[in-house]
Amino acid sequence: MIIALYPGSFDPVTKGHLDIACRAARLFDRLIIGVYDTPEKKLMFSTAERVALFSEATRTLPNVEIRPFSGLLISFARELKVDTVVRGLRVSNDFEFEFDMAMLNRKLAPELELICFMASPEYQFLSASMMKEVARLGGDITAFVPANVVKAIKSKVAAER
Ligand code: ADP
Repeated sequence: MIIALYPGSFDPVTKGHLDIACRAARLFDRLIIGVYDTPEKKLMFSTAERVALFSEATRTLPNVEIRPFSGLLISFARELKVDTVVRGLRVSNDFEFEFDMAMLNRKLAPELELICFMASPEYQFLSASMMKEVARLGGDITAFVPANVVKAIKSKVAAER
C-alpha cells in the first residue's frame, strides 16, 4: 500500500492543485494533502480555512485526506510514515525550486522519494496568487478554482474593502 503526501500552502486550492490531487489519488492507494501551517508568505486564508476548502473540493475522492502541518516537511512525512512526496510542476520556474528542495530533502531524509506531476496544459499558467489578484481586481475566476473557493475568495475580497 503506497501512501503519498502532497504538501503545499494551497492559499486557496485551485483547479491546478485539484488536478494534481485527482491524478495522484488515482495512482496511489491513499493521498494525504498536507496544508502548510506557517509559510512565510502573506496568506488570504487561515490554515483551518485552507484545510476546509480543500476538503470540500475533494469530498468525492474517498482515498484523499487533508491534514494541516507545521515545521519541516520531512518530519511530517516521517510522522505519517510516508515515503512518497508529490508536487506539481508548471513550465515557469517550479523546476528549479523543486529540484533544490528535492536535493536538500534527499540529504536530510534519504528515504523520501519525490514524484512530480507535470501540470496539465490548461492549468500551466494558474497560480493561487494570480487568482487572488484577479478576484481583487473584479475578474471572473470561476473557470480556475472550485465553486466553493469562488465564494470564499469573493467574501474575503469584500471584507478587505
Ligand atoms: P507552495 O507549496 O510552493 O507554497 P502551492 O501551495 O501554490 O505552492 O502549490 C503546491 C504544489 O502544487 C506545488 O508543487 C506547486 O508547484 C503545485 N501547483 C501549483 N499550481 C499548480 C498548477 N496550476 N498546476 C499544477 N501544479 C500546481
